[in-house]
Amino acid sequence: TVAASPVHLDDWFVRDLGGLYQPWQAAPAPSPELVALNGELAEELGLDADALRAPEGVAILAGTAVPAGATPVAMAYAGHQFGNYSPRLGDGRALLLGEITDTAGRRRDLHLKGSGRTPFARGGDGLATLGPMLREYVVAEAMHALGIPTTRALAVTTTGERVMRERPLPGAVLARVASSHLRVGTFQYAAATGDADLLRRLTEHAIARHHPDAAHAERPALALLEAVVEAQAALVARWMDVGFVHGVMNTDNMTISGETIDYGPCAFLDAYDPATVYSSIDHGGRYAFGRQPQAAQWNLARFAESLLTQIEDDPEAAIPAATDVVSSFAERFTRHRSAGLHAKLGLVDEQRELAEELVTLMAEQKPDHTRFFRGLSSAARGDASPVLDLVVDRDALDAWLTRWRAALEAQERPVGESADTMDRVNPVYIPRNHHVEAALDAAVAGDHAPFHRLVDVVSRPFEERPGLEDYAKGDPSATGYVTYCGT
Ligand code: AMP
Ligand code: MG
Ligand code: MG
Repeated sequence: TVAASPVHLDDWFVRDLGGLYQPWQAAPAPSPELVALNGELAEELGLDADALRAPEGVAILAGTAVPAGATPVAMAYAGHQFGNYSPRLGDGRALLLGEITDTAGRRRDLHLKGSGRTPFARGGDGLATLGPMLREYVVAEAMHALGIPTTRALAVTTTGERVMRERPLPGAVLARVASSHLRVGTFQYAAATGDADLLRRLTEHAIARHHPDAAHAERPALALLEAVVEAQAALVARWMDVGFVHGVMNTDNMTISGETIDYGPCAFLDAYDPATVYSSIDHGGRYAFGRQPQAAQWNLARFAESLLTQIEDDPEAAIPAATDVVSSFAERFTRHRSAGLHAKLGLVDEQRELAEELVTLMAEQKPDHTRFFRGLSSAARGDASPVLDLVVDRDALDAWLTRWRAALEAQERPVGESADTMDRVNPVYIPRNHHVEAALDAAVAGDHAPFHRLVDVVSRPFEERPGLEDYAKGDPSATGYVTYCGT
């Protein structure tokens, strides 16, 4: 019955955007079991966590029951994958259940991943396995705790089914929450249909939902483009601040909201090296750590192309203005990245050269990225050994540290206060790749405790806690770490 349903959903996307989805239902799960429920997120959504843990709740989270008000749909989208255009990707193994208005009044999508084949499944089996769904859960929680815009995991359930990969693995469904699932690829799909009304409705929906100020602009679609360029420039800069490598920055994996989406082959740097690639399929290093800004701008150019007819009746006439906006990405990114670095270095006064020299030095010396930045607050307080011990050329770093300390001392703010602010932006704990792997392996083997412990660790990234020293260390055998697209 409707009244007893633990989740009530709206269907704004479905009402507005016929042509961009197919109604569908999840595959049956023989014996769904909850592995992880995000109690804090449930509360934020105004949902009763206990009701979600009960069988009716688990059935919704696994896709076997449809919540009140929901019209589950597989969303259509296109996308450039590693530069190659696919006109029809879409939710091959996922469903949008609908939208919840959270306790802060924000509209959030509730979406399932791993819920069975859809009309967009192509050759895929529509399924997901436990390890990659838990990876998405823990990395998204870490990103959220680090203050980075991201989709979030509400729950992971196992289905009771074995899914065939390189070996049989437990099948799982991720319940994901996002401010929406509109992607650059959604616009590419709508534009490619040639249905001008559909593209107009999508543009208006995206503006109303994510960038409402754009509605008042002279050319709303151009203002939308600018808002997305700005949001993505800020997002990618935040990724770089924490050493995050997304790994699969295809246009179908770039949101209009500016949230990080799709934690497939992602990983965090141990040693700082801009050339770092983890994904097994990224042979050319297209999405290497240091190339993420370029990849984002390339995607935004594809977004701009899909919007041209919305900017001007004559799309040719829209090209100069759209090009200017896409080109502004570089300047915007540099500004956000520089602001991020300044904060990481405790600098209030502008010291661009000093900050950039450190990045160059780090690229040469390749210290552990997270420990190095965290160690700098010790250096500010007088003990430089935590950072000096991470480099080979101590003299080169020492020379830089001397100039940086002088810059800190020249600021109006006391050095001790600057060190404290640094500890609020430079994390102690990130989801270290070897800990993620170990936690997922244990979970697949039936022991969920290491996963829950890791979620707890990365949920409070800035606060050093006794007994967690091992979580603050990089993998001693980290060279050659490889990730795989979510399966
Ligand atoms: P991704 O690399 O995760 O961004 O996924 C790219 C596309 O492949 C999307 O359209 C997915 O829905 C689809 N896809 C990925 N895995 C599967 C699967 N096992 N079954 C069906 N579709 C899938
Ligand atoms: Mg994807
Ligand atoms: Mg994926």
